[in-house]
Amino acid sequence: MSERKILLTEKEMPKAWYNIQADLPELPPPPLSPVTLQPVTPEELSAIFPPDLIAQEVSTERWIEIPEEVQEIYKIWRPSPLYRAKKLEQVLDTPAKIFFKYEGVSPAGSHKLNTSVPQAYYNKKAGIKRLATETGAGQWGIALSQACTFFGLECTVYMVKVSYNQKPYRRSLMEIFGSTVIASPSEHTAAGRRILEQDPSSPGSLGIAISEAVEDAAGRADTNYALGSVLNHVCLHQTVIGLEAKAQMAKAGYYPDVVIGCCGGGSNFAGLAFPFAYDKLVNNARVRLLAVEPISCPTLTRGKYAYDFGDVAGLAPIVQMYTLGANFMPPGIHAGGLRYHGDSPLVSLLVNKGLAEAKALGQTAIFQGATLFARCEGILPAPESAHAVQAAIEEALAAREAGESRVILFNMSGHGLLDLPSYDLFMAGKLEDYPLPEEDLQQALTMLPKV
Ligand SMILES: *Cc1c(COP(=O)(O)O)cnc(C)c1O
Repeated sequence: MSERKILLTEKEMPKAWYNIQADLPELPPPPLSPVTLQPVTPEELSAIFPPDLIAQEVSTERWIEIPEEVQEIYKIWRPSPLYRAKKLEQVLDTPAKIFFKYEGVSPAGSHKLNTSVPQAYYNKKAGIKRLATETGAGQWGIALSQACTFFGLECTVYMVKVSYNQKPYRRSLMEIFGSTVIASPSEHTAAGRRILEQDPSSPGSLGIAISEAVEDAAGRADTNYALGSVLNHVCLHQTVIGLEAKAQMAKAGYYPDVVIGCCGGGSNFAGLAFPFAYDKLVNNARVRLLAVEPISCPTLTRGKYAYDFGDVAGLAPIVQMYTLGANFMPPGIHAGGLRYHGDSPLVSLLVNKGLAEAKALGQTAIFQGATLFARCEGILPAPESAHAVQAAIEEALAAREAGESRVILFNMSGHGLLDLPSYDLFMAGKLEDYPLPEEDLQQALTMLPKV
């Protein structure tokens, strides 16, 4: 009998993060200032980020040491378990072997604590007293709130208004950890007031909330900004997932044919996939890397690879990425964490160079896959993670068709225990798919910056 759960000891935890910028065939083009349209300078970034994170953003060192203080906190939930989904394999009647890395064991319930902890640490080290951030569905807000508590920082979270009203338990958690949570768009910032003037009933978006948080941070010397995805340093911190998973797969005696992650801003996909991309880039390994996104927010599969704004007000740097346009308003699908208009420049580059693949799934399919998975393995996936689950199921079924014993590894980025209202709607047959109409996409893409 092979193992069902593959564990590492604390001693076997990674001591350094893997920086893919050391091994890429080329680096992503530089981020531009939204004011000058010239490459952003470290001085400009230092208004909102601490020096260590700015250095990591552009570093080409392959390994970046994880500070002792961060490792110590990681030990609360790391190393996270790797499971073999044996019952799911049986039910699908597939010769494929399905493994998943489970990040839902973190106190935040998702992978996001892997980066909020080092971000809070480096800000504390730089003498910062307070962090401002945005959150969509709330997972990032929770993760940053917890990390700020660990390091004695204040935290203000601009939460997309529709989620603020629909996801009260996530807001409760942030407040338990001492954060101030503000529904965005708000009257607290010029960016928020401008949106409210145009549309007093605006439901908000991640792009708007980012503008508010960046404005807040840029306006106060004691305050920095923290972002939960997209940026290079965020992808870097998440590589603990893939480094552990590689060691665990080796313990299990397997190497994956395909590595799968859901993709919103790209960080959990990057976290699992980049250490395997290393094998591809440096050792010519044949492993496939697959990023999975919603059909209603199809950034990688239908977006344009271009320089675009990271936020609605144009305060954040302009970066080269796959984008649907910064003014794109995604429909209110239940995988709130996958509704960002853009994507990590590093993940975008891998897809653009053919080093990673992307696919899009509808929400009825992903809830179906997630429910089947929960009934087999006992773990309820977050709706975001359910995209990876369903893609893994489809890979397993394709392996059955081909009579091929494919080894599948996917990232279960978080649990769905705070997403039960969405599961209720699915069970009641009330969920619909919202493929993005081509017209809306073309409209949103007319607003790209002219660089
Ligand atoms: C935020 C979130 C995501 C999406 O963000 P990425 O940066 O693409 O990883 C996926 N899964 C969960 C559970 C999340 O909380």
